[in-house]
Amino acid sequence: MNYIPYARQYIDQDDIDAVINVLRSDYLTTGPCIEEFEKEFARYVHAKYAVAVSSGTAALHAACFAAGIRAGDEVITTPLTFAASANAVLYMGGKPVFADIDPCTYNIAPQDIRKNINDKTKAVIPVHYTGQPCDMDEITKIAEEHNLMVIEDAAHALGAVYKNRRVGGISHMTIFSFHPVKHITTGEGGMITTNDEELYKRLMLFRTHGITRDPRMMLRNQGGWYYEQLELGHNYRITDMQAALGVSQLKKADMFIQRRKEIVRMYNDAFRESAEIITPFQLADCGSSWHLYVIQLKSKNRKEVFDNLRARGIGVNVHYIPVYTHPYYRENGYGHVTCANSERLYGKIISVPLFFGLKDDEVAFVIESVLAAVG
Ligand SMILES: *Cc1c(COP(=O)(O)O)cnc(C)c1O
Repeated sequence: MNYIPYARQYIDQDDIDAVINVLRSDYLTTGPCIEEFEKEFARYVHAKYAVAVSSGTAALHAACFAAGIRAGDEVITTPLTFAASANAVLYMGGKPVFADIDPCTYNIAPQDIRKNINDKTKAVIPVHYTGQPCDMDEITKIAEEHNLMVIEDAAHALGAVYKNRRVGGISHMTIFSFHPVKHITTGEGGMITTNDEELYKRLMLFRTHGITRDPRMMLRNQGGWYYEQLELGHNYRITDMQAALGVSQLKKADMFIQRRKEIVRMYNDAFRESAEIITPFQLADCGSSWHLYVIQLKSKNRKEVFDNLRARGIGVNVHYIPVYTHPYYRENGYGHVTCANSERLYGKIISVPLFFGLKDDEVAFVIESVLAAVG
């Protein structure tokens, strides 16, 4: 059997045609597909507004800007995430503060958010790890008590459900990523959703250098040629080619998630029998969108099992190295930080392949290999 990666995009003829149509059109960037992608996406996640940008990282940066994060502000997030969730706070001159995870759900623990709040705390970035929603009722309550902005990192959670609500319209802002390993892809790409018009306007400004062409927002309109820079933004625009791919991919999102759930059922059935494997705990009142399938080893050496599976041609991975343990963080004031639950879990987890195009015989091969490797 060939090498099986842990994640892989699925591109069909409709996707290819959508991109080619844009290549033949007048607009390669900032064309009609971007608005269409934003409108369809907002509708899919049940949010009022959506702003498409060039990556999930750009989406996090834009959200931190719109939230008004500035030098000296503290923002609480989880260490069990991709570094970008915390880096976005640093881009704004703020300070990421790491709250530990719940050892059962692997998501940020609300009581640990509480412990880390002080006068400087301005926002919380909960990450829906693997696609299982965080405890948003509790996080919203804490945020309201302390006047904090909530930015959900839903890079794993397109199509996830929190108590009958789609992730994307729950808090102030929610960000998504369209990197090829995620549920849908635009190559590189990201989205921020919000129900707040003021935040929406700030996100739109940030995407294009902080520049507006809307006369109603200008201080001194000088004529038809005129535009005004109101803030320091970036060029975080997505191209029309990418947006066309996004529109086409979004139509398949439900189908993608359905297949992921089927594969998860096969993994659960097979791995539950093993005395060595802890399968992912799932909350009864939520629906994960299953970006990742993460097994936890009880006693076996993780590195040995990992190397064994890689040698068998299975592209296992580890999500994630606790962010504050990276040398950059260690050398910039995080040398003393410890989150015991996150570090303990990090030592025991392996992500096994999970993506739409994974065939049944490949699933069977992964199961057989994992059981042999932990056996
Ligand atoms: C993928 C990912 C990001 C970053 O998205 P990019 O599109 O790669 O910039 C941020 N946070 C999490 C949790 C992710 O998985």
